[in-house]
Amino acid sequence: MQHETVIVLDFGGQYNQLIARRVRENNVYCEIYSYKTDLSIIKAKNPKGIIFTGGPNSVYLEDSPTIDPEIFRWGVPVLGICYGSQLMMHLLGGHVCRAPEREYGKTEVFVDNSSKMFTDVQPSTICWMSHNDYIEQAAPGFKITAHTVNCPVAAAENEEKGLYAVQFHPEVLHTAEGKKMLRNFVYNVCGCTGDWKMDSFVENNVKALRERIGDGKVLCALSGGVDSSVLAAMLAKAIGKQLTCVFVDHGLLRKNEKEEVCSVFGPGNANGFDINFICVDARERYFAKLAGVTEPERKRKIIGEEFIRVFEEQAKQIGKVDFLAQGTIYPDVVESGLGGESTVIKSHHNVGGLPDTVDFKELVEPLRNLFKDEVRQAGRELGLPEYLVSRQPFPGPGLGIRIIGEVTPEKVAIVQDADAIWREEIAKAGLDKEISQYYAALTNMHSVGVMGDERTYDYAVALRAVTTTDFMTAESYNMPWDVLGTVTSRIVNEVKHVNRVFYDCTGKPPATIELE
Ligand code: GLN
Repeated sequence: MQHETVIVLDFGGQYNQLIARRVRENNVYCEIYSYKTDLSIIKAKNPKGIIFTGGPNSVYLEDSPTIDPEIFRWGVPVLGICYGSQLMMHLLGGHVCRAPEREYGKTEVFVDNSSKMFTDVQPSTICWMSHNDYIEQAAPGFKITAHTVNCPVAAAENEEKGLYAVQFHPEVLHTAEGKKMLRNFVYNVCGCTGDWKMDSFVENNVKALRERIGDGKVLCALSGGVDSSVLAAMLAKAIGKQLTCVFVDHGLLRKNEKEEVCSVFGPGNANGFDINFICVDARERYFAKLAGVTEPERKRKIIGEEFIRVFEEQAKQIGKVDFLAQGTIYPDVVESGLGGESTVIKSHHNVGGLPDTVDFKELVEPLRNLFKDEVRQAGRELGLPEYLVSRQPFPGPGLGIRIIGEVTPEKVAIVQDADAIWREEIAKAGLDKEISQYYAALTNMHSVGVMGDERTYDYAVALRAVTTTDFMTAESYNMPWDVLGTVTSRIVNEVKHVNRVFYDCTGKPPATIELE
């Protein structure tokens, strides 16, 4: 089915994915393409609107990213944001140059409410600015619809041609009414009706998967994470017993994780999923391989390789499968350089090289067009329990990289218990939706303590909680002291062999989100 589509053309801005997410939050489907994409490809998508992103360059310099001005003549509305707004003005005869005052951060903007972009927006509203250049003069035919103290053209438009330019960034949350402005653009200007909804996505995709797979066999590596769980649920609904899910218990899972996954997908589950579910107990193999290993990269490698080996053994028993299912999601696609203009951040292989070793005909990746929050929503539509769909991100190597130094079953038990308490108390304090990622780790440090008049010499647990929008940078969360206090006393009382608790105050950079 063809959805109403808005296209984001990426000029190298940092917020390209955020723009697309905001559009989709308004129930309008949105895809990201590089500004270099051939116009005929964009046109063939039959977009309802086009959005130009920001970017680091200056439009008046040679070699800066540009676009064929033909795009302004299609009659398809265009919204230019920051660099995008400057480019629109520059190409259509306005004047862009170095600003006498650069603007950065939250800035008061005075807007003209009669603009379709600014319906119901306060006449004076706080917006996020980040620019060194500015539009000194709008292009002919454009009306100025917003300004700031330092910026004569903070927004301009040619309503008749459907062309809109904003110097600020409506997509970031610091722009108080940004969400409303983007909504105004897609509904009032582009005339979208909002046909992108997760319930119909699930329904249509279950049908499409059924048609594509026919009576073929599908193999899926289930990690218990959000993406692979939603993938498995969708396939379960589509093809039932033709699906085999392999879940590997490597002994490095979070507390109760195995039980939770088995109760959702295993035999006799309450969701009515009727699939072949294989749970492999590989704990001993892993602990044997990891004994005595302390170097982080080495640990990661061992865990990854062992996973492939276990998976291969299972796949061999199943024999030839027709499809291998992967939980690739849209940010993976964009970050591997296939959409948008951002440099290749990571080449994405969801199941770490499996396609080379397992015998299959084709890949199925039904979540490929979804953002994380949409994957979660799809999971809810499929009837998955909330604890699965709102799960914290969890690294492939599991607790193996949240235990500094050698990994042993005893250390795993300590970190599992401490982590469960940390998660429980954060949820109790109502902070779980606010923090992007949080977990407990085991430092490899022993220190002296005193308990019941006796000297102890035990482990220190590290607590981590960060906020981030993109996981590329992060800040340590400003955790209320009473939450830290409660968690600390519970951990030292309830978890054996812990006599000290640390909170990690470091951001990324210079630290990373995980410890190893
Ligand atoms: N490089 C342009 C400027 O400094 C645009 C910045 C942006 O898009 N954030 O004005």
